[in-house]
Amino acid sequence: MNGLASRLRYWLKHRRAPNCRRRSRLADGEGSSEEAERVRRQYRESEQRFRALLESLPKVAVQGYDRHRRVIYWNEASTHLYGYTAEEAFGQTLEELIIPDIMRDDVIAAHRAWVEEGREIPADELELRHRSGKLVPVFSHHVMLNEHTDEPLMFCIDVDLSEQKQARRELDFARRFDRLTHLPNREFFEEQLDEALRDTTAQGRLLVLVFLDIDRFVDINDALGYQEGDRLLLQLAARLGQQLRVSDLMCRVSGDEFLVAFSGVTHERDIPRRVLKVQEALRAPFALRETSRKLTACLGVSVFPTNGESAAELIRCADVAKNRAKLEGRGQVVYFDQRLHDELLYQHRLIDRLELAVERGELMLHYQPQVAPASGQVENLEALLRWYPADGPPISPAEFIPLAERSGLIHRIGDWVMEEACRQRAAWRQAGLALGRIDINFSGSQLNSPDLFARLDACLARFALGPRDIGLELTENVLIDADQRVLEGLQRLYHRGFRIAIDDFGTGYSSLSYLKHFPVTALKVDRAFVRDAPNQPKDRAIMEAAVFIGHRLGLEVVAEGVENVEQLDLIREMHCDLVQGFYFFAPMAAAEVERLLAGVSASPSGLSS
Ligand code: C2E
Ligand code: CA
Ligand code: CA
Repeated sequence: MNGLASRLRYWLKHRRAPNCRRRSRLADGEGSSEEAERVRRQYRESEQRFRALLESLPKVAVQGYDRHRRVIYWNEASTHLYGYTAEEAFGQTLEELIIPDIMRDDVIAAHRAWVEEGREIPADELELRHRSGKLVPVFSHHVMLNEHTDEPLMFCIDVDLSEQKQARRELDFARRFDRLTHLPNREFFEEQLDEALRDTTAQGRLLVLVFLDIDRFVDINDALGYQEGDRLLLQLAARLGQQLRVSDLMCRVSGDEFLVAFSGVTHERDIPRRVLKVQEALRAPFALRETSRKLTACLGVSVFPTNGESAAELIRCADVAKNRAKLEGRGQVVYFDQRLHDELLYQHRLIDRLELAVERGELMLHYQPQVAPASGQVENLEALLRWYPADGPPISPAEFIPLAERSGLIHRIGDWVMEEACRQRAAWRQAGLALGRIDINFSGSQLNSPDLFARLDACLARFALGPRDIGLELTENVLIDADQRVLEGLQRLYHRGFRIAIDDFGTGYSSLSYLKHFPVTALKVDRAFVRDAPNQPKDRAIMEAAVFIGHRLGLEVVAEGVENVEQLDLIREMHCDLVQGFYFFAPMAAAEVERLLAGVSASPSGLSS
């Protein structure tokens, strides 16, 4: 920039020089007229070159003004930048053309001060006026020539900053707003929320923060594509926006998560009404390109000042409550409280300990026999995970499996279970024990691991095991939520003759119609029905129906949790194929299984009684 300005200054200063030189040379009587002509030509060429340069710079607008600030020079870039052609600009004053009204007096004064007192106008970022009235950001550099003469000339060299400004604005926007919904992002929201908390404190009011997480949004993306997913998010953002007042805030936290803050809440009893507003936004189905879709979401709620003093704290509490809501199922709402906080802290520690447990070999498999109801003969075993921490009492899988799922540890643990069950099955075959399958429990998130089936295959191959050796247990919900890839994997196992059981049957969706669509071979009727069947006619009816349907579909039916002889009698009456429960055997360590199958152990408790 400065280089150009000084070059311009030089060129303008010396543009008359050849004439002067010629005059003096002619006066001296020296040099030929050819010589003078050559110099003039050279000069003209150099001037043309420089003019061409000025003209050709697309982004550098150069304008020249006389002492009355009338345009005497206007290059192509100036036309581009300010919208006036050179013809239109010539003779007009600087202030008429491109100076915004509010700068007008200052510009005139500054120009005068330069011309009269030699006070330069410093280079600066300015916003000047385009012909259309629009302001153009420029970096403007000024040069004064013939300063102390009657013909001072001011040249302005303006560089268009529109692109830089736009880029900066975009950067600024990207730093603070979400690209898709144009809502504030989490960081900016946190700033806004902190400000809102100060107002809320001053007013002595409450603020309700709701963390929203759409249930199974991945499925929508997977099934319909990201574009449809985006469409849905935009609709949701718009609907949430409609529920807000000006003082309320919202942001998109990430993918399918939003935060909404309702300020100015006067009473605790008004809190649920705010939460209802968020639920209201979800109520109607969402229009997609070809269909429409109903959505549910889990909500976590935290309240200022009860649950936290700062935005960060409140967001964390709402997040914790939201995670708890997710654990409870779809469409759940959880309000943060201290108990939740303590519980979560405990769970975090448990996850840390569980991670170590895998490394330290604190996990074990126990095996619970499945027996034929009539004979009490052991047919198969179900592998059940046990955790014996070195530093404390045993922890139930019902407690740690959900945590393992949430933390992702389930993959490592699941792989260990697979390996250990296969190893044990192979070892028992080697030892010549008469035994059917070992069934392994698979959880939903475990199946989502893309190469689970490949790992299972590899594991089976390593121990030379087949469909008669290892079976799978999955819950109803896992099957219903399974995507195409998982179903295909199961289908392949099914066709190879593997046993696939629906675990805890009757507790999930309880829709029987799906049974015929899934590659399953067995139903395990949940122990809640078994427990209550002798005394509760409804449970008994459900059990009977399950057994009936299972058999009609050609499935094996297993009754879980059989604890007493009344239950066993009923189950025999219903012709269940297999029975599992404390009445016969509790889950036991491998060594005990060996004693049992070798006939060393006492006979099954149920039959000995
Ligand atoms: P589940 O698959 O339904 O396993 C049966 C549960 O019922 C076991 O609890 C078993 O000990 C218990 N049980 C067996 N007979 C009776 C009875 O007569 N009465 C009563 N009240 N209970 C009985 P456990 O071992 O505590 O396992 C709990 C759950 O943890 C399992 O439920 C299963 O969902 C999960 N789990 C256990 N091991 C694994 C594993 O290796 N992988 C996965 N993904 N989940 C596992
Ligand atoms: Ca099971
Ligand atoms: Ca079960």
